[in-house]
Amino acid sequence: MIQNARVLPSPELPPVERATVLIGDGRILVVEPDARIPPNAQVIPGEGRVVTAGFWNAHVHFTEAKWRAPARRAAVVLDAHLHDMFTSRGFTTVVDLGSDPRVTLTLRRRIDSGQVLGPSIYTAGTGIYPPKGIPYYLRESLPFWYRPFLPQPSTARAARWVVRRNLARGADLVKLFTGSYVARGTVRTMPEPIARSAVESAHAAGRLAFSHPSNLEGTRVALHSGVDVLAHPPDATQGIDASVLGAMVDHRMVMIPTLKMFADTVSPDASYLEPIYDVVRRFRSLGGELLFGTDVGYMTDHTTEDEFLALSRCGLEGVEVLRMLTTGPAGRFGVGGSVGTVVPGARANLTVLDADPREHPLAFTRVRATIRDGRVLHLRP
Ligand SMILES: [Zn+2]
Repeated sequence: MIQNARVLPSPELPPVERATVLIGDGRILVVEPDARIPPNAQVIPGEGRVVTAGFWNAHVHFTEAKWRAPARRAAVVLDAHLHDMFTSRGFTTVVDLGSDPRVTLTLRRRIDSGQVLGPSIYTAGTGIYPPKGIPYYLRESLPFWYRPFLPQPSTARAARWVVRRNLARGADLVKLFTGSYVARGTVRTMPEPIARSAVESAHAAGRLAFSHPSNLEGTRVALHSGVDVLAHPPDATQGIDASVLGAMVDHRMVMIPTLKMFADTVSPDASYLEPIYDVVRRFRSLGGELLFGTDVGYMTDHTTEDEFLALSRCGLEGVEVLRMLTTGPAGRFGVGGSVGTVVPGARANLTVLDADPREHPLAFTRVRATIRDGRVLHLRP
């Protein structure tokens, strides 16, 4: 339990001051000022601290070499990697948008069984690419024999089959490269009938479809095929005008900004970044919904400071960023009743911060403790 903290139950609810959060059987039992503390309870002191629902990172990958052969790795080694990448940064749920499914599914099994300490994982399994559409950065980093594992369906029927196979193997969602950077500055677009067939197959199974759009054409294919979430804003922003952004909002499409990734892996130049920031600003001002995600795993730097600063530079308030980290993704994944809020009955997924994120964006990075299903995954003494 956590004693004497300021609790932000959700972005919409007022804070509860001097609150005690009682946890039992992996659930939140009580959130009340001065609640009675049961004997023998493990107490995390909350004076000066702020408790929020556990954070989601809606764009991650398990593609780095350290994740290979996760069945054979010692639990403490995996614990340390997961701590560094996720739980020390407050994440209790992550969404893998394309990795070797053998890796992600094994990790997930070991986490869910309690053997390994980590976040809850949703996964896309393998990404789905346009014909002859493997991104250049994957071609450069993966061995040649791995390419057949990257599906590039060339017909609507083949796309349906790939989606069904991914879901049957344990994937929870679909990730399409509607616009794929086959070379620096060159985007290959997924033919619309293929994208539509993949998205329809995902929706028929009650799953979300994510897409990597890259440019205007990739964004249009995502829009016309019914994609739910853009895993990035298009970074080639020519033609991304009010009518395109308005159509995205009308379709209730959401966007994951991943702003630090663009600065770190493409270019830190303002001439490249500013138009992307502007897409995020305009989308938001039209009423578009954003989710928090960093593309960590593709990006080897695991820190989150720069992402929070960039969101703040886009004009996002702390409460909005909290929504992107908690109730926003939980709602989209249809689990808003059990995660994303700090209320009695919800799963005990909690992030304890040393400062109030409504007052400073970097407070989101000052993570004192991370708790998932009542289990303490991170505690800074
Ligand atoms: Zn990614």
